[in-house]
Amino acid sequence: MLYNFGSINLDHFYRVPHLVHPGETLTSRTYRVGLGGKGANQSLAMALAGGRVTHWGRLGRQDGWAKETLSRAGVDVSRLELVDEPSGHAIIQVDDRGENAIILHPGANHGFKTATLAQLIETARPGEWLLAQNECNGLPELMEHARSRGLNIAFNPAPMTDAVQTLPLDACRLLFVNRGEAARLAEVDEATDAQSLLTTLAQRLPETATVLTLGGEGAWYQHDEERFYQPAIPVRPVDTTGAGDTFIGYFLATLQTGASVPACLERAAMAAALGVQQPGAAESIPASEAVDRALR
Ligand code: ADP
Repeated sequence: MLYNFGSINLDHFYRVPHLVHPGETLTSRTYRVGLGGKGANQSLAMALAGGRVTHWGRLGRQDGWAKETLSRAGVDVSRLELVDEPSGHAIIQVDDRGENAIILHPGANHGFKTATLAQLIETARPGEWLLAQNECNGLPELMEHARSRGLNIAFNPAPMTDAVQTLPLDACRLLFVNRGEAARLAEVDEATDAQSLLTTLAQRLPETATVLTLGGEGAWYQHDEERFYQPAIPVRPVDTTGAGDTFIGYFLATLQTGASVPACLERAAMAAALGVQQPGAAESIPASEAVDRALR
């Protein structure tokens, strides 16, 4: 079983002629709400990849449809806490040029109590995998509990904040980072080449394996003396939102099957490549049948 300690956000999209100016009231042309949040996206990707995943998260009681959406995709939502608080949500304006402006309210994602985290960790068995991103509160406690319980922690420090540097990252078995996250973690310039980024991260966290994703330039895996490179699958991207989430979900779910790291990288890259050819984040995550057919 995979456990995902993950955010759930409701993304409210408003199509507007221009981004709203100070003091202005602007009528939107269209409105749509979708399930989002890196946590929810990664749970969906793991379930669609065929993985058995339990989502640990918090959601406003009024938004039960989001729980239904996760459940329909095959995510175990039995540990989801429904609370009398606003759900995490984003107000997203998109203008005619495709520019956007976003207000994010973490809501229920920031309401985890330390005691609840300890209880959740107790439900997992040593050796099982726990995935987390940087959109929920309580990460230092979660990582320490998970370490002492003997769980394998996979961490995606997105969105990157200064607080990530203070987390017990040496408790992590696997880190998933894109170029910007890797550069901030390694405290080097974003233009630093991938090899130097990997070397600096390995010096800082010698026990931790790193998956470094580089958008259309592919992805690297590094642990000890081992380095594997997976080129991106050449496609015409339509919308790369959520590419990292799809990649992470497919990589971890495939790892659970006992597949080799290069095989996990290849399946993740194919899933992400199919995803970037569709609009949206959660909606663009492909099903395993499509991914495995494309790999044959
Ligand atoms: P994030 O969404 O976290 O910034 P990346 O942009 O690094 O993550 O993308 C993750 C992975 O998705 C890449 O390693 C690659 O396999 C795939 N991917 C992203 N953009 C493209 C693209 N333009 N063409 C093909 N694959 C892509």
